[in-house]
Amino acid sequence: MKREYWQEELEVLHRNELKKLQVERLQATLGHAGRSPFYNKVFQQKNIKADNIKDVEQIWDLPFTTKQDLRENFPYGFLTMPKKEIVRLHSSSGTTGNPTVVFHNRHDLDSWANLVARSLFIAGVRDTDVFQNICGYGLFTGGLGFQYGIEKLGALSIPAGAGNSLRQIKLMRDYGTTAAHAIPSYLGRLYEVFEAEGLDPKKDTQLRIFVIGAEPHTDEQRRRIEEMYGVKAYNSFGLTEMNGPGVAFECEYQDGMHIWEDAYLVEIVNPDTLEPVPDGDYGELVITTLDRQAMPLIRYRTRDITRIIPDRCKCGRTHRRIDRITGRSDDMFIIKGCNVFPMQIEGILLKIPEVGSDYMITLETMNGNDEMVVEVEVKKDWFRGDIRRLESLTRSITAQIRDEVLVKPAVKLVEAGSLPKPEGKAVRVIDLRNGGIKN
Ligand code: ADP
Ligand code: ZN
Repeated sequence: MKREYWQEELEVLHRNELKKLQVERLQATLGHAGRSPFYNKVFQQKNIKADNIKDVEQIWDLPFTTKQDLRENFPYGFLTMPKKEIVRLHSSSGTTGNPTVVFHNRHDLDSWANLVARSLFIAGVRDTDVFQNICGYGLFTGGLGFQYGIEKLGALSIPAGAGNSLRQIKLMRDYGTTAAHAIPSYLGRLYEVFEAEGLDPKKDTQLRIFVIGAEPHTDEQRRRIEEMYGVKAYNSFGLTEMNGPGVAFECEYQDGMHIWEDAYLVEIVNPDTLEPVPDGDYGELVITTLDRQAMPLIRYRTRDITRIIPDRCKCGRTHRRIDRITGRSDDMFIIKGCNVFPMQIEGILLKIPEVGSDYMITLETMNGNDEMVVEVEVKKDWFRGDIRRLESLTRSITAQIRDEVLVKPAVKLVEAGSLPKPEGKAVRVIDLRNGGIKN
């Protein structure tokens, strides 16, 4: 079988060549960066010169950039060129604080669109597809980011925007949508609307590919989405600071996400010591942009936890893969001395067939003790069924979570659809222990 690539010359580039390209681009990036007020100061203090870079490993000598740096230099401190050259800005949804803003010139937007097109292509999207982009347009990068990528690929785009499930379903059926992008937590809810309408997406739509991302989710979540809709679902990773979507994407093998190393220099570091970890070990993902002019970022600490998958992918692409993001370092919470990632709990819940699509973890102090309350949506017919079966399900979930995270939760089963549904990304944890709400 002849393999198909979107940009063969780059996607299967020999790693030695890829490294050479990275060095060239790193030099150019440092050149641009040095013209921004922020990096200019840093480079002078540390005597950093683009021409001295002869090897990608020298990246270890450069300082990190953090979200805090972006906030402190808001809004224009990282800009490398006059505003006249800039054509767009995006800012993050600010899930964990003030928004951070990223600026693009024409080159940057074109490069980004190309990366998204390449990403969609490896997930099997073609110019013959009808692609519905179910996500917010505007400052959020998932809207316009995918839009320009879909157009570059040449598929027929439906810029549907977020929410309004009945309208989403109508668009899918009217125009014969074959591929779509959405956040995974939304797709469970959308399916409930299909069901309420007496429709089965497997029979009543032509969907074949979903691109899911923008929030942590488990393989169980993906498999559920694939079964509900009769599609293949591919993991899509990106963040505003690195453009947005199109940073790393799953190929047909669905085994980790190829991170586009011609555009992003990847490191995985120990979040405490900031030393590099060996390939295969988990740590914090740190990325340097290699093809951005208006606002390059050097050694940006994403706070996302993942690892490099050490072996080569069967698809032949030489760009390495990162594993599913287990969460942000700041998603992790500590309860009764145990470190817990919400995804550990999701992994347990979504393996259970009676469990619906949503759950919520609340940390609270009761009688002086910290408690972890896990509310779990249960499918309607089950919830209204035999009380003894519900009790035994509660016991089973409690035991499984305790075995995984070593803390006994208080599990409360609730009816599907009853937990709060945020407009955007799912909120999985509420921490009321200090009287405050996390996120
Ligand atoms: P905000 O930081 O306000 O949420 P972004 O839209 O920039 O705004 O979010 C990027 C973040 O979303 C990433 O840093 C990561 O934590 C999360 N994310 C994006 N894609 C994925 C994915 N496929 N899997 C897990 N987490 C993801
Ligand atoms: Zn691959």
